[in-house]
Amino acid sequence: MGTSSLQGPRALSMADAFPGQVGVAVAGGSIAGLCAGNALLAAGHDVHVFERSATRLTSRGAGIVVQPDLASLLKRAGTPPLAMTHCTTRKNFSGRGGPAQLLHMPQQFTSWEAIFASLSGAFPAERYHAGMELEIAEASANGVTLRANRETLTADLLIAADGFRSETRARFAPETISRYAGYIAWRGVADETDLPDTLVAFFDDNFCFCDVGDGGHALCYLIPGEGGSTARGTRRLNWVWYVTVPEGESLNAVMTDGAGRQRHASVPVGHVNATALNDLHRRAESLERHFADLVRATPEPFIQSILDVAPPEMVFGRICLLGDAAFVVRPHTAAATAKAAAEASALAASLKDFAPNIDQGLAVWNRQQVSSGRRLVDYGVMLGERTTRRKST
Ligand SMILES: Cc1cc2nc3c(=O)[nH]c(=O)nc-3n(C[C@H](O)[C@H](O)[C@H](O)COP(=O)(O)OP(=O)(O)OC[C@H]3O[C@@H](n4cnc5c(N)ncnc54)[C@H](O)[C@@H]3O)c2cc1C
Repeated sequence: MGTSSLQGPRALSMADAFPGQVGVAVAGGSIAGLCAGNALLAAGHDVHVFERSATRLTSRGAGIVVQPDLASLLKRAGTPPLAMTHCTTRKNFSGRGGPAQLLHMPQQFTSWEAIFASLSGAFPAERYHAGMELEIAEASANGVTLRANRETLTADLLIAADGFRSETRARFAPETISRYAGYIAWRGVADETDLPDTLVAFFDDNFCFCDVGDGGHALCYLIPGEGGSTARGTRRLNWVWYVTVPEGESLNAVMTDGAGRQRHASVPVGHVNATALNDLHRRAESLERHFADLVRATPEPFIQSILDVAPPEMVFGRICLLGDAAFVVRPHTAAATAKAAAEASALAASLKDFAPNIDQGLAVWNRQQVSSGRRLVDYGVMLGERTTRRKST
C-alpha cells in the first residue's frame, strides 16, 4: 500500500481531486470511517474516505461515555482535544422515591458531534470525499474495483464503515440477522439553559440512574453543548429510558413516525408520532420526579430500537467490515464508538505487524475482532436482561 504523511487539522469539504487508485478506500465517513481513516493514515497508509452524504454529518446520536479505546485513538491520530464533561458520583434512584444510593465513580462524557469534530479535524480535507457513494464493482484476491458516482477507483483494501444497514454486510454475509431485543430506548437531549436551575443542579456532577417498576430504567448525564462548549450554562442534559415494547403491533405503532412511515432502527428527532409522545409523557410519572420533569421538558425526544447484529466474519478477501457495519452492540455496553476505535487501531497494528502480507494481517484481525465483537454482543444481551428483569417491587 502507498504511504502519505499525516497532515494538520482542516475543515471537511468536497474534495476537488478524485483519486483513481488508492491504498485503502473507506466507504462511510461517519465515526467508524473516520476512526479507520485516521488510524490508517497515522500508520502511513494512502487512505481516502468516501461519504455518500453531501452535507456535513450532524446530530447522530447524543451523549457518549468516553472509553479508553477512543481516547487513545484520538491521541495517536493527533486530533484536536475532545470536548468532555465530567462527573464524580453515580446516583441510583428508585422510581418509587426514597433516597439515592451513592457511589464515588468519576466518569467522562462527550457527544456524537464532539467526537465527529475531533476526528474530522485531524483528517485531511482532500482525502475526505463527501457526496460520493462507493459501490463495489469487482472484488479480486488483490484488491477491489469501486464505483463512486460515475468515477472508477481501485483500492488494495476496502473498509466498509457503512453503518448499521451496511449493504456490504448484506452482500457478503447475507445470513446475518438483526434481532430485536424486546425493548426500545427513548432518548432526549435538552439545553441546560432551557431547564430550571434546580433540575440542572440535581443532575450536575452525577451519572444518575432510575429503576422503573416495569423493569426498565432511565439514566442521565451532562454532555458538551453547541460547538463542544462545556461551560456552565451551555451544556446539555442527555437522557436515555429503556422501555419494554413487545414486537408486533405495539412496536410498529411506536416506530411509526409522525408522517406515517414505518421506521426500524430509530425514529429521529422531530419525527416521533404524537400518540407515542403523549404516552411517553404520561408514563414519565413512573420515574423519580426530576427524571419525569426532564423527560417532559425535553423538546424533541427520539427513539432507538435495541438490536443485536453479529456477522460470522468481518473480512471477505480484501473487504472488511468496521463499526456498526460489523457487530451492533446494545447501548448499555457504552461501547459502540469505542468498538469502532478499537477495530480501527487494531487493523492498523495488524497490517503493520504482517506487512507486506496484507491478507495475513487481515486474517489475524478478523479472528480477533469477530471474537471481541461476539463477546460485546453477549455482554450487551446480559446487561439488557438484567435491566429488563429488574423490577423495583
Ligand atoms: C440514535 C443513536 C444513538 C447512539 N448513541 C450512542 C451512545 O450513546 N454511545 C455510543 O457509544 N454509541 C452510540 N450510538 C452508536 C454510534 O453512533 C455508532 O456505533 C458509531 O457512530 C459508529 O457508527 P458507524 O460510523 O459505524 O455508522 P454510521 O454512523 O451509521 O455511519 C455510516 C455512514 O456510512 C455512510 N454510507 C453508507 N453507505 C455508504 C456507501 N456505499 N458509500 C459511502 N458512504 C456510505 C452513511 O451515509 C453514514 O454516514 C448511537 C447510535 C444511534 C443511531
